[in-house]
Amino acid sequence: MTLFRRRLSAVSGSLASLMLLTACLGNPPDRTGTGSSLSAPVVRADAGLETKSISLGFVPILEAAPLVVGVEKGFFARHGLDVKLSKQSSWSAARDNVVLGSAGGGIDGGQWQLPMPQMISEGALTNGKKVPMVILAMLMSQGNGIAAANGVRDGNLSADLKASSPGFFTTFQKKEGRRFRAAYTFPKANQDIWIRYWLAAGGVNPDRDVELLTVPAPETLQGMKTGTMEAFSTGDPWPSRISNDKLGYLAATTAQIWKAHPEEYLAVRKDWVDANPKAAVALLKGLIEAQRWLDQPDNKTEAAKILGSRKWYNVPVPVLEKSLRGEYALGSKDQVVKDPRMGPLYWSSDRGVISYPYKSLTLWFLVESLRWKFYPGVVDSLAQAQAINDRVTREDLWRQAAKEVGVPSKDIPTGSSRGREVFFDGVVYDPADPQAYLNSLKIKR
Ligand code: CA
Repeated sequence: MTLFRRRLSAVSGSLASLMLLTACLGNPPDRTGTGSSLSAPVVRADAGLETKSISLGFVPILEAAPLVVGVEKGFFARHGLDVKLSKQSSWSAARDNVVLGSAGGGIDGGQWQLPMPQMISEGALTNGKKVPMVILAMLMSQGNGIAAANGVRDGNLSADLKASSPGFFTTFQKKEGRRFRAAYTFPKANQDIWIRYWLAAGGVNPDRDVELLTVPAPETLQGMKTGTMEAFSTGDPWPSRISNDKLGYLAATTAQIWKAHPEEYLAVRKDWVDANPKAAVALLKGLIEAQRWLDQPDNKTEAAKILGSRKWYNVPVPVLEKSLRGEYALGSKDQVVKDPRMGPLYWSSDRGVISYPYKSLTLWFLVESLRWKFYPGVVDSLAQAQAINDRVTREDLWRQAAKEVGVPSKDIPTGSSRGREVFFDGVVYDPADPQAYLNSLKIKR
C-alpha cells in the first residue's frame, strides 16, 4: 500500500474500506497454510458430526497459535473435524472472505479482532450487508504491544506516559512541524482501541494530539526504519521483531495496560453454527485442547518451531519462542524482562480461564466503540451495545465442549461476567455499570 493509500485510509475509513472491499472480493483466500504436510493428522471418521470440515481464516500473529497448533497436533482431527486454515492477507480480506462464506470460495469464520464479528453481524463493516456471526471463544490474552521507533527513544515512551514522557507529544509536534504518527493494522478494533486507551490514559488525545494511520503489519518494519510512523500497535511477533531487529523499542505491552485483558476471538458465521451445532462443539473441543497445550511451559519450544516454519508464519523461531515465554526488551533502555504471566496467555490466568467467551469482556469493545463513536447509527447507546453483544456472543457451546473434553468443573465459568476489571491507570470497568466507566473517562469523543 502506498503512502497515499495509507493516508487516505486514515482520513476516510469508509471510502478506504470500500476500495479494499472492491479489491478483495473474488480474491480467493491463500490456502498455502492448509494442513497439507505429510504428517497431517488423520481426521476421525466416526464422530457423528453434521459436517467433517470448516474453513477458517487466520492472520500470522500469536493470537492464531491455538488454530495452527490445533491443526498440526491433531486436536481438531481427533474430534472429527478437518479444520482448513487459510492465511488472510489483511483484516479486510478476512472480513470480505467471511462475507463470501466457504460456499462462495471464502471462509466460515476464524480469528477476529473485536468488535469485527459484532459489526459484520450488523453490516457496519460490510456496506450494510448483515452477516450474522457467533463469537465462540477467546483465542488469546495479552501478547500485544506498542512499539516505538528509534527516532523517539528520547521520548522514553512507556506504559505510563504521564510518568515517563510528560509533554512529549506537544514538543514533538513543535519540533517536527507535524503530529506524532501511530499506526495499527485495522481501524476501530483491538489495536486502535489499545493505542487510544494508552494515549488517553497518558493525557494525550488520540484524535487531536497524534495522527493515527492504518498500515498492514508487514509494512511496519519498513515504516519504522524510514520514519513513516513513530509507533505501531499490534500483536506479537511484530513488536518483538521491531525491537529484535533494532528498528525501535517496545514502549508498552497490553498486559501492562490491563492484565488478562480480552484480545482476539474465534467467531464463525451463525448459519454455519446453526447448521452444524455438533461440529461447532467439536471445533471448541479441539481449540480448548490446543490452548491448554500451548500454555504448558514445556511446549513453548515446539510451538515456536511449528509457528515459525515457512508453512505458517515464516518468522525466526527464537523471536517467537521469546514472545511465547513473555520475554521482552522493554522500554527505551531495552530492559530485558522475563515473566510468562505478562506474555501471551492461552488458557489460565489470575482471572480464571482465558478461553471462555465472557459476555462482559466482548461487551467492552462495544463500550469502547461508544466512547470513540466508532459506529454511529449502529452503536449509539449502551442498550444497543448490549443487545448486539447478546446476539453475537454465545457461551453455552463452550461450556458443553469444556465438559465433554474433561475440563474440571471449577474451571468452567457459570455466569456471563468476569466481574470488575481494573486498568493500570486505576480506571474501573464494572460490566454491571458500563455507564459509570464511560463517565469516568476523561478523554473521549
Ligand atoms: Ca491482537
